[in-house]
Amino acid sequence: MALDDDIESVLFSEEQISERVSELASQIDFDFTTTTTTTTTTSLSAPVIVGVATGAFLFLADLVRKIKIPVVVDFIRAESYGSGTESNGAPRISFDLKIDIQGKHVILVEDIVDTGNTLSCLIAHLKSKGASSISVCTLLDKPARRRVNFELVGKGKYYCGFKCPDYFVVGYGLDFAELYRNLPYVGVLKPELYK
Ligand code: 5GP
Ligand code: MG
Ligand code: MG
Repeated sequence: MALDDDIESVLFSEEQISERVSELASQIDFDFTTTTTTTTTTSLSAPVIVGVATGAFLFLADLVRKIKIPVVVDFIRAESYGSGTESNGAPRISFDLKIDIQGKHVILVEDIVDTGNTLSCLIAHLKSKGASSISVCTLLDKPARRRVNFELVGKGKYYCGFKCPDYFVVGYGLDFAELYRNLPYVGVLKPELYK
C-alpha cells in the first residue's frame, strides 16, 4: 500500500517542479541583486525568506538551494485548516518569526494560495512588523477559489510556480490530514478518500 495508490493523477511532476523552481530562483536572484550589494553583503541587506510552515518546507528547501544571492531564512505558522479540505475562517498566527524584519525585504514562501485568507493575514502581520517590502513566492495558485485579494507591500513582487486547477492537491509539502507531504510531486487526491 504505497502512498502513490491514493493519487488519482499527477498534476506537476518532480521534473516540472524542479525546472520551475530553478526559474523562480533565477528571477529572485535577478530582482534582488539591485537591493543587495554582494561585495558588502551582511545579513542586514539580505532578503528574508519566510517559509509558511508546514506546507512550504520542501519548496523552500529546494528554492533556497537554487538562489545564489545571500538570503536569511525563517519560518512562520498560520493555522486555518483543520484536517478537512475547506478553510475554516480567519487564520491565526500560531508560531511567529525569530528574526527582526524591520526595514527588511521579505519574501513570503507559500505552498498554495487558495481563498487568499492566509496570505492577506500574513502580509498584514509582516507589514505591522515594519518590513520595507513584502513579496510572495507561492508554488501553486488556485485563482478560481480566491475570496480575498491581498496587496504586496512596497516594491514587493508576486512569484508563482504554477496556476493550479480547482482540485484538492497533495504532495511536495501539501497535506491531507498531515499525510502525503513527502510525495515528490503534486497530485490530485482520490476524492473518495475525503468525501
Ligand atoms: P487560503 O487561506 O488561501 O484559503 O488557504 C491557504 C492554505 O490552505 C494553504 O497554505 C494550504 O495549507 C491549504 N490549502 C488550500 N488549498 C489546498 C489544496 O488544494 N491542497 C492542500 N493540501 N492544501 C490546500
Ligand atoms: Mg500554506
Ligand atoms: Mg494543510
